[in-house]
Amino acid sequence: MTARPAIELLDVHKGYREGDEDHVVLAGVDVHVDRGERVAVLGPSGSGKSTLLNLISGIDRPDQGVVRVGGVELTARSERDRTLFRREHLGFVFQFFNLIPTLTVLENLLLPLELTGEGRGSSGRDRALGLLDAVGLASRAETYPDRLSGGEQQRVAVARAIVHRPKVVLADEPTGNLDEETGERVVALLDDLVAQDGLTLVVVTHARDLAGRMDRILRVRHGQVVPDAP
Ligand code: ADP
Ligand code: MG
Repeated sequence: MTARPAIELLDVHKGYREGDEDHVVLAGVDVHVDRGERVAVLGPSGSGKSTLLNLISGIDRPDQGVVRVGGVELTARSERDRTLFRREHLGFVFQFFNLIPTLTVLENLLLPLELTGEGRGSSGRDRALGLLDAVGLASRAETYPDRLSGGEQQRVAVARAIVHRPKVVLADEPTGNLDEETGERVVALLDDLVAQDGLTLVVVTHARDLAGRMDRILRVRHGQVVPDAP
């Protein structure tokens, strides 16, 4: 028996209402991502890349169509169930890091574990400290995020995205706010950690070199999601 894909979108439509006009963003898209696959998503600004990630994460619901992640049909679940699913099974990296400024680096890492009830034991703490070491920030555990450079903050965000051992990691322009060299290092790290654990990764990016490292490139254009033309 073949395992189900990690991510499946079937005939997904999504639009937004603006005044009395419907603005169609995704017009019947089909996307399949296998377990352990790493996929880059390219497309012009405003084409619907973040919309696509929000549908995969269950933050948004499609107007029509089915979204399955890890075999679970998110489109059949309540908002509360989708939130619980997201906390347990998904990891996120954002363009602006989104670390919590009033928590230390270590506390930021423990937060995803606390949300799923794993944070209290010493094993969660060990896992968090191990990942901080892996991203080269072991000595900064007690530091607050605003004392770190952008690249360092994004390395913390990468560790936070995988600390709870999610099935799927979603990254929305993770290098968009970093210089090229720093971005390249953050991506290498994300790529290594994801590959090590056999995680599925979907990364939205404008960076060609980042996209080139992935197994596959998808393009969002004119409401469709299509394979990148070679
Ligand atoms: P991208 O991430 O590719 O830049 P988005 O997915 O953020 O694009 O947005 C796609 C389109 O949908 C844009 O035209 C944007 O203005 C619109 N849009 C996104 N989110 C909303 C929303 N919550 N309400 C109304 N329009 C939205
Ligand atoms: Mg976007």
